[in-house]
Amino acid sequence: AAKNQGRGNFQFFSAEMNAATHERLLLEGRLWQALEQHEFELYLQPQVDLATARIIGAEALLRWHHPELGMVGPDRFIPIAEESGLILPLGEWVLHEATARLAAWRGGDLAHLRLAVNLSARQCHGPGLLPLLDRLLGSQGIDPALLELEITESAAMQDPESSRVLLEQLRARGIKVAIDDFGTGYSSLSYLKLFEIDRIKIDRGFVKDIETDPDDAVIVAATIALAHSLGLAVVAEGVETEAQRDFLRSKQCEEAQGYLFAKPVPLAQFEAMVRTQAQDDVLPQLRHSRAR
Ligand code: C2E
Ligand code: MG
Ligand code: MG
Ligand code: MG
Repeated sequence: AAKNQGRGNFQFFSAEMNAATHERLLLEGRLWQALEQHEFELYLQPQVDLATARIIGAEALLRWHHPELGMVGPDRFIPIAEESGLILPLGEWVLHEATARLAAWRGGDLAHLRLAVNLSARQCHGPGLLPLLDRLLGSQGIDPALLELEITESAAMQDPESSRVLLEQLRARGIKVAIDDFGTGYSSLSYLKLFEIDRIKIDRGFVKDIETDPDDAVIVAATIALAHSLGLAVVAEGVETEAQRDFLRSKQCEEAQGYLFAKPVPLAQFEAMVRTQAQDDVLPQLRHSRAR
């Protein structure tokens, strides 16, 4: 019986593996074509100022409309793009799209909005990033402060010295820099002293259990206090409940993003959301709490 069970498990496991391998092949095989075929889209997730209850900008998040698999999220294809090297042209496309958006907003009612873009490790440590940014920002006359680049702790720590130089150069240009997924990289906090950054993004993993896990509440409160004492602003990720929002606001966390406010949405929907808010004064999710 044990033998049969073992074999059954093995068959089940290998069927799962085959499915995973099959999906990987479907993704990998099309990835390079996908860029040419315009199968990628940038979704925007609003970032909200917790004190004023206004949308101040958005994080750009990649989506892939795969012809067979449907909508594919970045967690499934970014690692493959990293390994295969496609991340460089793909990352370039993302920056191109984001800066084109900032250029389109310039001079209009959306001119105040900031866009945050995720950088991969390869992009950060390659030689092409700064010339690309200079070209994109310069040719379109974009205020560099409206562009924020997000880099994870672990990507930065792959090569601390090259990261230090890169972040210094970004700051020198007036481009904003945020440390993404803060607290998940198992690295020493000493890099905060080494790197020139503007804000940190508290990972969703800590925000999720603020209400139920006293340890997480302490970690989040301490992280905000640490950031503030270093002169850094804080964005909380993955805010899903009013209680989480209220806790963060009580700790003077500046900004938040999460499903409570909005999921990542296509560009037109994001723009409509900002314009509706301009008419209605505030987002419905914030109205109640601000009145208090
Ligand atoms: P990230 O940069 O930490 O982005 C935040 C992720 O959390 C996004 O997942 C977002 O949809 C999700 N999220 C936001 N609010 C909530 C919430 O309230 N609840 C829950 N459950 N999730 C929330 P997404 O879009 O699947 O992106 C996953 C990761 O893929 C990103 O994590 C980022 O590391 C990477 N990524 C996305 N776009 C790009 C890109 O253009 N370039 C690079 N290099 N990486 C990207
Ligand atoms: Mg991010
Ligand atoms: Mg993050
Ligand atoms: Mg993440």
